[in-house]
Amino acid sequence: MSSVSAMNGNAIINDAGRVATIVSAAQYQADVIIVGGGIMGSAAAFFLRQRGRSVILLERGLLGQQASGTNFGNVRRQGRNLLQIPLANRSLDIWRKLPQLIGEDVEFLPSGHMRVCYGTERLGMFEDYALRARELGLDLEIFSGKQLRERFPFLGPQIGGGSYSPLDGHANPRLAAPAFGRAAARAGAQIFENTEVDEVEKDGEDFRATATDGRVFRAPAVLIAAGAWANRLSSSFGESVNLVAHGPQMGVTEPVPYGLKTVIGVSASNDLETLYFRQIPRGNIIFGGGNRGPAYPDLKRAYVRPENTLNQLYQLQRIAPALRQLNLLRVWSGIESYLPDDLPIMGTSTKEPGLHYAFGFCGAGFQLGPGVGDVMAELIDTGSTVTPIEAFSIRRFFREDFVARALQR
Ligand SMILES: Cc1cc2nc3c(=O)[nH]c(=O)nc-3n(C[C@H](O)[C@H](O)[C@H](O)COP(=O)(O)OP(=O)(O)OC[C@H]3O[C@@H](n4cnc5c(N)ncnc54)[C@H](O)[C@@H]3O)c2cc1C
Repeated sequence: MSSVSAMNGNAIINDAGRVATIVSAAQYQADVIIVGGGIMGSAAAFFLRQRGRSVILLERGLLGQQASGTNFGNVRRQGRNLLQIPLANRSLDIWRKLPQLIGEDVEFLPSGHMRVCYGTERLGMFEDYALRARELGLDLEIFSGKQLRERFPFLGPQIGGGSYSPLDGHANPRLAAPAFGRAAARAGAQIFENTEVDEVEKDGEDFRATATDGRVFRAPAVLIAAGAWANRLSSSFGESVNLVAHGPQMGVTEPVPYGLKTVIGVSASNDLETLYFRQIPRGNIIFGGGNRGPAYPDLKRAYVRPENTLNQLYQLQRIAPALRQLNLLRVWSGIESYLPDDLPIMGTSTKEPGLHYAFGFCGAGFQLGPGVGDVMAELIDTGSTVTPIEAFSIRRFFREDFVARALQR
């Protein structure tokens, strides 16, 4: 990844009469500093450059190394809290034109997403959701009985119905954030990998972000997009939130001939049953869901619990009995951050003008990523956004009614 340096030096005459150069702590300046190079930060950098804003993106490791690169790859709108649908729609529009927009293919396949249930009890809920989603521009088809069997013959006998979203699909998480980063760099963003931000402070008109190696970055606007690590930075501005980390568990099987184009996910009140899976054109089946494992942001580690994997394999053959024989190749997890109401934080700080947040995507931020980047760039550039995000403001955690409810829990 290219990084542009702008080291300042001061020339002085030393005691020996020679010209010496004191290299002061390196200083870098831009319109916007982004902390965190996951899909949110990388996409925001790209869209800010599209708006002509100069950008510095600071990533502690490599772009897309954390949740954005370890996730399942679901590009799914249905099943979300309806408050997220306008943002998810905006994001889907970007997913669909990504190769033209960023010049790289991130393997987005709009091959449909099917949300299924055991028995028929949840079908009423699916229908109600579909009615309300349609008003927001998300069209869903409900399947049950003969139609379900004809259209999805591989589903097990316990599956009683489902809600199908034809335009949703999946993409390759290993590719998406780095591709946005490369496109942003080609457009002139300054991207610094292996650069950990120690602190962000207000300094006159600017924010000053200091890296652990002493480099200093300045800009009048900052976007904190630091995933599970964001709370340390927001806390330093008096906006501490209850951000907790978990590790959703994933697995991938050996490849078999490609035939399952639709992404399948179970909706159930019992977490153990909430498996989801997809087949990639190479043939492997990737799956996730069920109980999450432990995640430790400070150690940068999320662990897989074998008993969760065993449950996933059991659930997989319940949904699609034909997958029973497959060998498991690999399991993994990643560090994702969650908030008490399962909604992300997006928008401006309530404390410091110029400070912006986009973090805490509660297990569902990959689909939203391109839209979040676009919306945050619009917000930083113009001061407002046409996509409603007020419900995601950090302000909600400081309202008295919310705090009172949280204390009662
Ligand atoms: C296993 C798993 C499966 C998932 N499956 C899906 C799915 O199928 N579909 C879906 O929509 N969502 C899914 N998600 C959720 C989705 O991956 C996340 O919501 C999304 O990637 C969050 O992106 P982010 O950029 O906010 O965070 P991250 O990708 O975590 O990026 C934050 C970045 O900030 C950097 N950083 C932190 N602190 C600092 C600092 N002080 N200085 C510099 N850099 C810093 C980190 O190194 C990191 O790279 C899943 C998540 C996981 C973990």
